[in-house]
Amino acid sequence: MSVFAMPKLNLSHHDNNPVFNQGPQSEQLEQLMSPHFERPALRLTPSPYISEKNLAKRWDKLSPLTDRDALLDPVTEQQAELYNKNIEHFIGTVKLPVGLAGPLRVNGLHANGDYFIPLATTEAALVASYNRGSQLITAAGGASAMLLNEGVTRTPVFEFQNLADAGQFVAWVVTQYDHFKQVAESTTSHGQLHDININIEGNHVYLIFEFHTGDASGQNMVTIATNEVFNYILDHSPISPQDAFLDGNLSGDKKPNAHTLRHVRGKKVTAEIQLTRELVEKYLHTTPEQMVKFGQMTTTGAALSGSIGVNAHYANALAALYIACGQDAACVSESAIGITRMELNKQGGLYACVTLPNLMVGTVGGGTHLPSQKACLELMGLLGTGKAKALAEVAAVLCLAGELSIVGAFCAGHFSRAHQKLAR
Ligand code: NAP
Repeated sequence: MSVFAMPKLNLSHHDNNPVFNQGPQSEQLEQLMSPHFERPALRLTPSPYISEKNLAKRWDKLSPLTDRDALLDPVTEQQAELYNKNIEHFIGTVKLPVGLAGPLRVNGLHANGDYFIPLATTEAALVASYNRGSQLITAAGGASAMLLNEGVTRTPVFEFQNLADAGQFVAWVVTQYDHFKQVAESTTSHGQLHDININIEGNHVYLIFEFHTGDASGQNMVTIATNEVFNYILDHSPISPQDAFLDGNLSGDKKPNAHTLRHVRGKKVTAEIQLTRELVEKYLHTTPEQMVKFGQMTTTGAALSGSIGVNAHYANALAALYIACGQDAACVSESAIGITRMELNKQGGLYACVTLPNLMVGTVGGGTHLPSQKACLELMGLLGTGKAKALAEVAAVLCLAGELSIVGAFCAGHFSRAHQKLAR
Protein backbone atom coordinates (compact mmCIF):
# COMPACT_ATOMS: atom_id res chain seq x y z
CA MET A 1 0.00 0.00 0.00
CA SER A 2 1.29 3.47 -0.82
CA VAL A 3 2.39 5.47 2.24
CA PHE A 4 0.17 8.22 0.83
CA ALA A 5 -2.96 6.06 0.87
CA MET A 6 -5.64 7.64 3.03
CA PRO A 7 -6.57 5.63 6.13
CA LYS A 8 -10.16 4.40 6.12
CA LEU A 9 -12.36 7.06 7.69
CA ASN A 10 -14.33 5.66 10.57
CA LEU A 11 -17.69 7.03 9.44
CA SER A 12 -19.52 3.89 10.51
CA HIS A 13 -18.40 3.93 14.15
CA HIS A 14 -22.02 3.89 15.28
CA ASP A 15 -22.27 0.36 13.85
CA ASN A 16 -19.76 -0.85 16.44
CA ASN A 17 -21.21 1.05 19.37
CA PRO A 18 -22.94 -1.30 21.83
CA VAL A 19 -25.27 1.49 22.91
CA PHE A 20 -26.81 1.49 19.46
CA ASN A 21 -26.53 -2.26 18.81
CA GLN A 22 -27.38 -4.03 22.06
CA GLY A 23 -28.91 -1.20 24.05
CA PRO A 24 -32.56 -0.67 24.85
CA GLN A 25 -35.13 -0.24 22.10
CA SER A 26 -36.42 3.23 21.36
CA GLU A 27 -39.48 3.10 23.73
CA GLN A 28 -37.27 1.90 26.58
CA LEU A 29 -34.71 4.56 25.77
CA GLU A 30 -37.36 7.25 25.90
CA GLN A 31 -38.65 5.89 29.22
CA LEU A 32 -35.09 5.81 30.66
CA MET A 33 -34.16 9.27 29.55
CA SER A 34 -37.35 11.26 30.09
CA PRO A 35 -37.79 13.46 33.23
CA HIS A 36 -38.87 11.67 36.44
CA PHE A 37 -40.71 13.75 39.05
CA GLU A 38 -41.08 11.44 42.05
CA ARG A 39 -39.60 12.68 45.34
CA PRO A 40 -35.94 11.53 45.77
CA ALA A 41 -35.56 8.74 48.37
CA LEU A 42 -32.64 10.59 50.00
CA ARG A 43 -32.43 14.31 50.75
CA LEU A 44 -29.70 16.36 52.39
CA THR A 45 -30.23 18.17 55.69
CA PRO A 46 -31.54 21.70 55.06
CA SER A 47 -28.53 23.17 56.88
CA PRO A 48 -25.19 22.67 55.10
CA TYR A 49 -23.16 23.28 58.28
CA ILE A 50 -21.26 20.88 60.50
CA SER A 51 -22.89 20.10 63.83
CA GLU A 52 -23.35 16.93 65.85
CA LYS A 53 -27.05 17.00 65.02
CA ASN A 54 -26.53 17.48 61.26
CA LEU A 55 -23.89 14.75 61.10
CA ALA A 56 -26.14 12.31 62.96
CA LYS A 57 -29.04 13.12 60.62
CA ARG A 58 -26.93 12.63 57.51
CA TRP A 59 -25.51 9.32 58.72
CA ASP A 60 -28.91 8.10 59.77
CA LYS A 61 -29.78 7.93 56.10
CA LEU A 62 -26.36 6.91 54.79
CA SER A 63 -25.49 4.11 57.24
CA PRO A 64 -27.51 1.43 55.42
CA LEU A 65 -25.65 2.34 52.20
CA THR A 66 -22.02 2.38 53.20
CA ASP A 67 -19.37 1.99 55.91
CA ARG A 68 -19.68 4.98 58.24
CA ASP A 69 -16.29 4.45 59.90
CA ALA A 70 -14.49 4.53 56.56
CA LEU A 71 -15.59 8.14 56.13
CA LEU A 72 -16.36 9.37 59.64
CA ASP A 73 -13.65 7.70 61.72
CA PRO A 74 -13.44 8.73 65.41
CA VAL A 75 -10.61 11.26 64.87
CA THR A 76 -12.41 12.94 61.98
CA GLU A 77 -15.62 13.06 63.99
CA GLN A 78 -13.82 14.62 66.93
CA GLN A 79 -12.26 17.30 64.67
CA ALA A 80 -15.31 17.81 62.47
CA GLU A 81 -15.78 21.50 63.36
CA LEU A 82 -12.35 22.28 61.85
CA TYR A 83 -13.78 21.65 58.39
CA ASN A 84 -16.64 24.16 58.74
CA LYS A 85 -15.05 26.84 56.53
CA ASN A 86 -14.00 24.37 53.82
CA ILE A 87 -17.00 22.23 52.99
CA GLU A 88 -20.78 22.03 53.01
CA HIS A 89 -22.90 18.97 53.80
CA PHE A 90 -19.84 17.31 55.40
CA ILE A 91 -20.02 13.55 55.99
CA GLY A 92 -16.37 12.74 56.76
CA THR A 93 -12.99 12.60 55.10
CA VAL A 94 -11.54 10.52 52.30
CA LYS A 95 -8.22 8.99 53.27
CA LEU A 96 -5.58 9.16 50.59
CA PRO A 97 -2.21 7.52 51.03
CA VAL A 98 0.66 9.99 51.37
CA GLY A 99 4.20 9.07 50.31
CA LEU A 100 7.45 11.00 50.61
CA ALA A 101 9.90 11.94 47.90
CA GLY A 102 13.26 13.38 48.79
CA PRO A 103 15.42 14.82 49.98
CA LEU A 104 14.99 17.31 47.15
CA ARG A 105 17.69 19.97 47.20
CA VAL A 106 16.40 23.37 46.10
CA ASN A 107 18.76 26.30 45.59
CA GLY A 108 16.16 28.99 45.17
CA LEU A 109 15.64 32.65 45.89
CA HIS A 110 13.06 31.73 48.52
CA ALA A 111 13.41 27.97 49.06
CA ASN A 112 16.85 26.92 50.08
CA GLY A 113 17.60 23.49 51.50
CA ASP A 114 16.66 19.84 51.39
CA TYR A 115 12.93 19.10 51.35
CA PHE A 116 10.96 15.91 51.93
CA ILE A 117 7.89 16.28 49.75
CA PRO A 118 4.55 14.76 50.79
CA LEU A 119 2.60 13.44 47.80
CA ALA A 120 -0.99 12.21 48.17
CA THR A 121 -1.97 9.83 45.40
CA THR A 122 -3.40 6.43 44.62
CA GLU A 123 -1.21 6.10 41.53
CA ALA A 124 1.53 3.51 42.02
CA ALA A 125 4.99 4.43 40.69
CA LEU A 126 4.29 8.17 41.04
CA VAL A 127 6.10 8.70 44.35
CA ALA A 128 8.87 6.31 43.27
CA SER A 129 9.42 8.35 40.13
CA TYR A 130 9.54 11.72 41.94
CA ASN A 131 11.79 10.18 44.55
CA ARG A 132 14.21 9.00 41.86
CA GLY A 133 14.23 12.45 40.25
CA SER A 134 14.76 14.07 43.67
CA GLN A 135 17.71 11.77 44.44
CA LEU A 136 19.28 12.69 41.11
CA ILE A 137 18.81 16.43 41.61
CA THR A 138 20.23 16.26 45.12
CA ALA A 139 23.22 14.18 43.95
CA ALA A 140 23.90 16.95 41.40
CA GLY A 141 24.05 19.56 44.15
CA GLY A 142 20.45 20.72 43.78
CA ALA A 143 18.41 22.61 41.21
CA SER A 144 18.40 26.40 40.96
CA ALA A 145 14.97 28.00 41.19
CA MET A 146 13.80 31.55 40.66
CA LEU A 147 10.40 33.08 41.31
CA LEU A 148 9.89 35.44 38.34
CA ASN A 149 6.48 37.01 38.75
CA GLU A 150 3.28 36.96 40.79
CA GLY A 151 -0.33 37.91 40.21
CA VAL A 152 -3.90 36.65 40.44
CA THR A 153 -6.66 38.19 38.35
CA ARG A 154 -10.41 38.67 38.32
CA THR A 155 -11.85 39.99 35.10
CA PRO A 156 -15.27 41.67 35.20
CA VAL A 157 -17.01 42.17 31.87
CA PHE A 158 -19.33 45.06 30.90
CA GLU A 159 -21.66 45.39 27.91
CA PHE A 160 -22.55 48.79 26.44
CA GLN A 161 -25.04 49.91 23.84
CA ASN A 162 -22.29 50.51 21.31
CA LEU A 163 -18.57 50.95 20.85
CA ALA A 164 -18.77 54.71 21.48
CA ASP A 165 -20.21 54.10 24.97
CA ALA A 166 -17.60 51.38 25.60
CA GLY A 167 -14.89 53.89 24.66
CA GLN A 168 -16.28 56.55 27.04
CA PHE A 169 -16.44 53.99 29.82
CA VAL A 170 -12.79 53.09 29.30
CA ALA A 171 -11.84 56.78 29.22
CA TRP A 172 -13.39 57.06 32.70
CA VAL A 173 -11.85 53.81 33.99
CA VAL A 174 -8.30 54.97 33.23
CA THR A 175 -8.80 57.98 35.54
CA GLN A 176 -9.97 55.77 38.43
CA TYR A 177 -6.95 53.60 39.24
CA ASP A 178 -6.30 55.16 42.67
CA HIS A 179 -9.98 54.93 43.66
CA PHE A 180 -10.21 51.33 42.50
CA LYS A 181 -7.08 50.43 44.43
CA GLN A 182 -8.42 52.01 47.60
CA VAL A 183 -11.80 50.29 47.26
CA ALA A 184 -10.28 46.88 46.48
CA GLU A 185 -7.77 47.00 49.29
CA SER A 186 -10.44 48.03 51.82
CA THR A 187 -11.50 44.34 51.82
CA THR A 188 -8.11 42.80 52.66
CA SER A 189 -5.01 43.55 54.66
CA HIS A 190 -2.71 41.38 52.53
CA GLY A 191 -4.08 41.71 48.99
CA GLN A 192 -2.75 44.53 46.79
CA LEU A 193 -4.20 45.66 43.48
CA HIS A 194 -1.15 46.28 41.36
CA ASP A 195 -2.41 46.49 37.78
CA ILE A 196 -5.52 46.94 35.67
CA ASN A 197 -5.53 45.94 32.03
CA ILE A 198 -8.32 46.66 29.61
CA ASN A 199 -9.61 44.57 26.73
CA ILE A 200 -12.24 46.00 24.38
CA GLU A 201 -14.08 43.63 22.08
CA GLY A 202 -16.88 45.43 20.18
CA ASN A 203 -19.29 46.80 22.78
CA HIS A 204 -17.85 44.54 25.52
CA VAL A 205 -15.16 45.74 27.93
CA TYR A 206 -13.17 43.33 30.08
CA LEU A 207 -11.27 44.84 33.02
CA ILE A 208 -8.41 42.66 34.19
CA PHE A 209 -7.71 43.35 37.86
CA GLU A 210 -4.41 41.84 38.93
CA PHE A 211 -3.51 41.42 42.59
CA HIS A 212 -0.61 40.36 44.72
CA THR A 213 -2.10 38.04 47.32
CA GLY A 214 0.66 37.64 49.93
CA ASP A 215 0.93 34.06 51.14
CA ALA A 216 -2.61 33.11 50.13
CA SER A 217 -3.21 31.52 46.74
CA GLY A 218 -5.79 34.28 46.61
CA GLN A 219 -8.82 33.20 44.59
CA ASN A 220 -11.27 34.22 47.33
CA MET A 221 -9.30 37.32 48.21
CA VAL A 222 -9.34 38.68 44.63
CA THR A 223 -12.99 37.75 44.16
CA ILE A 224 -14.04 39.69 47.24
CA ALA A 225 -11.81 42.68 46.43
CA THR A 226 -12.88 42.82 42.76
CA ASN A 227 -16.52 42.53 43.73
CA GLU A 228 -16.16 45.68 45.83
CA VAL A 229 -14.72 47.58 42.83
CA PHE A 230 -17.32 46.05 40.52
CA ASN A 231 -20.11 47.46 42.71
CA TYR A 232 -18.29 50.81 42.90
CA ILE A 233 -18.17 50.90 39.10
CA LEU A 234 -21.87 50.09 38.77
CA ASP A 235 -22.68 52.88 41.24
CA HIS A 236 -20.30 55.54 39.87
CA SER A 237 -19.68 54.95 36.17
CA PRO A 238 -20.86 57.94 34.06
CA ILE A 239 -21.93 55.43 31.38
CA SER A 240 -24.21 52.69 32.68
CA PRO A 241 -23.49 49.27 31.26
CA GLN A 242 -26.42 47.34 29.81
CA ASP A 243 -25.14 44.20 31.45
CA ALA A 244 -22.19 43.29 33.65
CA PHE A 245 -20.76 40.20 35.32
CA LEU A 246 -18.11 39.85 38.02
CA ASP A 247 -15.95 37.54 35.92
CA GLY A 248 -15.83 37.41 32.14
CA ASN A 249 -13.71 34.25 32.01
CA LEU A 250 -10.55 36.07 31.00
CA SER A 251 -8.84 35.29 34.29
CA GLY A 252 -7.90 31.72 33.36
CA ASP A 253 -9.38 30.54 36.68
CA LYS A 254 -9.19 26.73 36.57
CA LYS A 255 -8.72 26.58 32.80
CA PRO A 256 -5.46 26.06 30.93
CA ASN A 257 -4.95 28.99 28.57
CA ALA A 258 -2.37 30.31 26.15
CA HIS A 259 -2.34 33.82 27.63
CA THR A 260 -0.95 32.75 30.99
CA LEU A 261 1.76 30.66 29.34
CA ARG A 262 3.62 33.94 28.77
CA HIS A 263 2.13 35.93 31.63
CA VAL A 264 1.39 34.72 35.16
CA ARG A 265 -1.42 33.29 37.23
CA GLY A 266 -0.39 32.73 40.84
CA LYS A 267 3.36 32.38 40.81
CA LYS A 268 5.72 32.01 37.87
CA VAL A 269 8.85 29.99 38.58
CA THR A 270 11.70 28.72 36.47
CA ALA A 271 14.17 26.03 37.62
CA GLU A 272 17.22 24.43 36.05
CA ILE A 273 19.91 21.81 36.58
CA GLN A 274 23.16 20.65 34.98
CA LEU A 275 23.70 16.88 35.15
CA THR A 276 26.93 15.09 34.33
CA ARG A 277 26.79 12.18 31.90
CA GLU A 278 27.76 9.88 34.78
CA LEU A 279 24.81 10.98 36.92
CA VAL A 280 22.37 10.48 34.03
CA GLU A 281 23.76 6.98 33.43
CA LYS A 282 23.82 6.07 37.12
CA TYR A 283 20.34 7.31 38.08
CA LEU A 284 18.40 7.06 34.82
CA HIS A 285 20.21 4.26 32.96
CA THR A 286 20.29 6.22 29.72
CA THR A 287 22.40 8.91 28.04
CA PRO A 288 21.99 12.69 27.74
CA GLU A 289 21.77 12.23 23.92
CA GLN A 290 18.79 9.90 24.23
CA MET A 291 17.03 12.30 26.57
CA VAL A 292 17.56 15.22 24.19
CA LYS A 293 16.32 13.13 21.26
CA PHE A 294 13.23 12.15 23.25
CA GLY A 295 12.65 15.83 24.01
CA GLN A 296 12.85 16.77 20.32
CA MET A 297 10.46 14.08 19.14
CA THR A 298 7.92 14.62 21.90
CA THR A 299 7.99 18.39 21.45
CA THR A 300 6.81 17.81 17.90
CA GLY A 301 4.14 15.46 19.22
CA ALA A 302 3.01 18.10 21.70
CA ALA A 303 2.81 20.71 18.91
CA LEU A 304 0.74 18.30 16.81
CA SER A 305 -1.62 17.76 19.74
CA GLY A 306 -2.14 21.52 20.17
CA SER A 307 -0.62 21.46 23.65
CA ILE A 308 -0.25 24.77 25.54
CA GLY A 309 3.46 24.63 26.35
CA VAL A 310 5.36 21.35 26.41
CA ASN A 311 5.81 19.14 29.43
CA ALA A 312 5.71 15.44 30.22
CA HIS A 313 3.62 15.28 33.40
CA TYR A 314 3.63 18.35 35.67
CA ALA A 315 0.05 17.39 36.58
CA ASN A 316 1.21 14.29 38.47
CA ALA A 317 3.45 16.26 40.83
CA LEU A 318 1.06 19.14 41.27
CA ALA A 319 -2.10 17.09 41.88
CA ALA A 320 -0.36 14.98 44.54
CA LEU A 321 1.33 17.99 46.17
CA TYR A 322 -1.78 20.20 46.06
CA ILE A 323 -3.97 17.52 47.63
CA ALA A 324 -1.43 16.76 50.36
CA CYS A 325 -0.90 20.44 51.19
CA GLY A 326 -4.45 21.82 51.17
CA GLN A 327 -4.19 23.63 47.84
CA ASP A 328 -7.15 23.87 45.49
CA ALA A 329 -6.65 20.70 43.42
CA ALA A 330 -8.80 22.03 40.56
CA CYS A 331 -6.09 24.63 39.89
CA VAL A 332 -3.91 21.84 38.54
CA SER A 333 -5.79 22.52 35.30
CA GLU A 334 -4.03 25.88 34.91
CA SER A 335 -0.90 25.14 36.98
CA ALA A 336 0.19 22.13 34.95
CA ILE A 337 1.14 24.10 31.86
CA GLY A 338 4.66 25.28 31.08
CA ILE A 339 7.80 24.42 29.21
CA THR A 340 10.33 21.67 29.81
CA ARG A 341 13.57 21.87 27.83
CA MET A 342 16.54 19.48 27.76
CA GLU A 343 19.80 20.09 25.88
CA LEU A 344 23.33 18.73 25.77
CA ASN A 345 25.69 21.00 27.69
CA LYS A 346 29.25 21.82 26.65
CA GLN A 347 30.65 19.08 28.90
CA GLY A 348 28.54 16.37 27.25
CA GLY A 349 26.14 16.29 30.15
CA LEU A 350 22.48 17.33 30.28
CA TYR A 351 21.00 20.79 30.86
CA ALA A 352 17.34 20.63 31.88
CA CYS A 353 14.92 23.37 32.85
CA VAL A 354 11.23 23.84 33.60
CA THR A 355 9.15 27.03 33.61
CA LEU A 356 5.72 27.04 35.25
CA PRO A 357 3.88 30.37 34.98
CA ASN A 358 0.69 29.43 36.85
CA LEU A 359 1.51 27.91 40.21
CA MET A 360 -1.59 28.63 42.31
CA VAL A 361 -0.17 27.92 45.74
CA GLY A 362 -0.61 29.36 49.22
CA THR A 363 0.66 28.64 52.70
CA VAL A 364 -2.24 30.38 54.47
CA GLY A 365 -5.96 30.23 53.70
CA GLY A 366 -7.87 27.68 51.65
CA GLY A 367 -7.31 24.16 52.97
CA THR A 368 -3.86 24.83 54.46
CA HIS A 369 -5.06 24.86 58.10
CA LEU A 370 -6.84 21.47 57.96
CA PRO A 371 -5.24 18.81 60.17
CA SER A 372 -3.39 16.55 57.72
CA GLN A 373 -2.80 19.28 55.12
CA LYS A 374 -1.24 21.50 57.79
CA ALA A 375 0.94 18.58 58.89
CA CYS A 376 2.20 18.12 55.32
CA LEU A 377 3.14 21.81 55.01
CA GLU A 378 4.80 21.68 58.44
CA LEU A 379 6.81 18.67 57.36
CA MET A 380 8.44 20.84 54.68
CA GLY A 381 8.74 23.86 56.98
CA LEU A 382 6.40 25.71 54.61
CA LEU A 383 3.33 26.52 56.68
CA GLY A 384 2.13 30.07 57.22
CA THR A 385 3.27 33.61 56.63
CA GLY A 386 6.29 34.22 54.44
CA LYS A 387 6.38 30.74 52.90
CA ALA A 388 4.29 30.83 49.72
CA LYS A 389 7.11 31.90 47.40
CA ALA A 390 9.28 29.06 48.73
CA LEU A 391 6.44 26.58 48.20
CA ALA A 392 6.17 27.71 44.56
CA GLU A 393 9.91 27.19 44.01
CA VAL A 394 9.77 23.75 45.64
CA ALA A 395 6.80 22.82 43.43
CA ALA A 396 8.73 23.81 40.29
CA VAL A 397 11.81 21.80 41.27
CA LEU A 398 9.58 18.84 42.08
CA CYS A 399 8.18 19.09 38.55
CA LEU A 400 11.76 19.14 37.21
CA ALA A 401 12.49 15.96 39.20
CA GLY A 402 9.46 14.30 37.62
CA GLU A 403 10.42 15.38 34.11
CA LEU A 404 13.93 13.95 34.47
CA SER A 405 12.65 10.71 35.91
CA ILE A 406 9.90 10.06 33.36
CA VAL A 407 12.02 11.02 30.34
CA GLY A 408 14.78 8.76 31.69
CA ALA A 409 12.25 5.93 32.09
CA PHE A 410 11.03 6.29 28.50
CA CYS A 411 14.61 6.40 27.16
CA ALA A 412 15.70 3.34 29.15
CA GLY A 413 12.54 1.44 28.22
CA HIS A 414 11.54 1.24 31.91
CA PHE A 415 8.30 3.22 31.83
CA SER A 416 5.92 0.33 31.35
CA ARG A 417 8.02 -2.04 33.44
CA ALA A 418 7.96 0.26 36.49
CA HIS A 419 4.17 0.55 36.35
CA GLN A 420 3.74 -3.18 35.85
CA LYS A 421 6.04 -3.99 38.76
CA LEU A 422 4.61 -1.43 41.20
CA ALA A 423 0.93 -1.39 40.23
CA ARG A 424 0.15 -5.01 39.29
P1 NAP B 1 -8.85 32.56 51.93
O1 NAP B 1 -8.73 31.60 53.04
O2 NAP B 1 -10.18 32.91 51.43
O3 NAP B 1 -8.16 33.95 52.28
C1 NAP B 1 -6.89 34.05 52.86
C2 NAP B 1 -7.03 34.65 54.25
O4 NAP B 1 -5.79 34.64 54.91
C3 NAP B 1 -7.49 36.09 54.19
O5 NAP B 1 -8.49 36.23 55.16
C4 NAP B 1 -6.25 36.88 54.58
O6 NAP B 1 -6.58 38.04 55.29
C5 NAP B 1 -5.57 35.90 55.52
N1 NAP B 1 -4.13 36.05 55.67
C6 NAP B 1 -3.46 35.97 56.84
N2 NAP B 1 -2.14 36.07 56.66
C7 NAP B 1 -1.95 36.23 55.33
C8 NAP B 1 -0.79 36.36 54.53
N3 NAP B 1 0.44 36.38 55.06
N4 NAP B 1 -0.95 36.48 53.20
C9 NAP B 1 -2.17 36.48 52.66
N5 NAP B 1 -3.31 36.36 53.37
C10 NAP B 1 -3.21 36.23 54.70
O7 NAP B 1 -7.89 32.02 50.80
P2 NAP B 1 -7.69 32.49 49.31
O8 NAP B 1 -6.29 32.11 49.03
O9 NAP B 1 -8.12 33.90 49.06
O10 NAP B 1 -8.65 31.56 48.52
C11 NAP B 1 -8.28 30.22 48.33
C12 NAP B 1 -9.48 29.37 48.33
O11 NAP B 1 -10.44 29.95 47.48
C13 NAP B 1 -9.18 28.03 47.83
O12 NAP B 1 -9.54 27.09 48.80
C14 NAP B 1 -10.05 27.91 46.62
O13 NAP B 1 -10.63 26.64 46.55
C15 NAP B 1 -11.10 28.92 46.81
N6 NAP B 1 -11.65 29.43 45.56
C16 NAP B 1 -12.46 30.46 45.61
C17 NAP B 1 -12.96 31.00 44.47
C18 NAP B 1 -13.81 32.15 44.55
O14 NAP B 1 -13.97 32.83 43.57
N7 NAP B 1 -14.39 32.45 45.68
C19 NAP B 1 -12.65 30.49 43.24
C20 NAP B 1 -11.80 29.42 43.20
C21 NAP B 1 -11.30 28.90 44.38
P3 NAP B 1 -6.78 39.44 54.54
O15 NAP B 1 -7.53 39.21 53.28
O16 NAP B 1 -7.52 40.27 55.51
O17 NAP B 1 -5.44 40.00 54.24
